[in-house]
Amino acid sequence: MALKNIILLGATGSIGKSTLNLIRQKREKFNLIGISAFRNTKQLKIISEEFNVKNICYFENYDDIKFSSGVNIMKGNQGLLELTSINCDVVVSGISGLAGLMPAYNALNNGNNIAIANKEPLVVAGHILKECSKKNNVKILPVDSEHNSIFQCFDNNRRENISHITLTASGGPFLNRSLNSFNTITIEEALKHPKWEMGNKISIDSATLINKALEVIEAGHLFGLKSSQINVVIHPESIVHGLVHYKDGSVLANLALPNMISPLSVAIGYPERYNLNLPKLNLVEVSQLNFLNPDFKKFPGLNFGWDALNGPNYVSIILNAANEIAVDLFLKKRIKFTSIVQIIDECLNKQKFISAHSLEEILDIDKKSRIFAKNISEKFYV
Ligand code: MG
Repeated sequence: MALKNIILLGATGSIGKSTLNLIRQKREKFNLIGISAFRNTKQLKIISEEFNVKNICYFENYDDIKFSSGVNIMKGNQGLLELTSINCDVVVSGISGLAGLMPAYNALNNGNNIAIANKEPLVVAGHILKECSKKNNVKILPVDSEHNSIFQCFDNNRRENISHITLTASGGPFLNRSLNSFNTITIEEALKHPKWEMGNKISIDSATLINKALEVIEAGHLFGLKSSQINVVIHPESIVHGLVHYKDGSVLANLALPNMISPLSVAIGYPERYNLNLPKLNLVEVSQLNFLNPDFKKFPGLNFGWDALNGPNYVSIILNAANEIAVDLFLKKRIKFTSIVQIIDECLNKQKFISAHSLEEILDIDKKSRIFAKNISEKFYV
């Protein structure tokens, strides 16, 4: 069987590392033809040598690294567009934040399937990306573990049989912390996710449960569901990731140990399944699986997901922009943990736009929302 040609965006991040691990395990299946990273050109060079990668895109070469001759170098946002235009089997997107939107759109438009771990583009422009994938007859393969689970259980050919879906959430690091002490949450505490090792932005999103709000929107777009068809339950063990409830009462669930290599393998390998050297799920060892309702008093940000699906499409854009700004300020120690949701709430309540129908309109609302969020954040500075 022919090798699958892969382009990996965000090669030095958490998803990038897991993807490289997968490719290392299955060298006979994959050919890594392109990589990108934002900052870490040193690591990019190491990866390019290990996998003999011929197309490389970076933004700033702080270390003045010299790549070997014969390597095609691309730079910045324009470079990402050049890279994602190269014909391949799958573009894996592990870029953080909305920066992944244009490369994802461009990949689809150039006839490339995308395995997308980066949820922000789907949150703000899911309808446009879906349309683009249909038009070009290519696939959007979800890597986000919950959506990857739903993807595996969802009978797309008989959608009428599906009643609703459930996304699980581990509950994050503050599941059992009392609301009274939320005011004193530190960055270190917020970054310490009990089940997943991830980048900083998504770790903070998991601590506020805004990650799950974004996932509700992501699921709405990916699977064409109404907000009332998407449930969230807290499941601290993170073994069951997603469930599809059929009209006849039957429920299909996907179980896996919390490890990104498995959903990556499903998405990148689709429809093939690989024999991977991963720890195996032992139900007797796990012994108990617990499920509980989310605490909306502690995690009011979770509501934003359904609000966005019920509202005009600019609500998701404001939510995402305000969240990216607020999380960045929290990571820079400018605001408290609890201010993240307060800032988003204010941004959602005080802005109105006309619904966006194109990427340009989306990016315009995003830009205005970021400026607005930055301005109102000042009064939350500590
Ligand atoms: Mg997830």
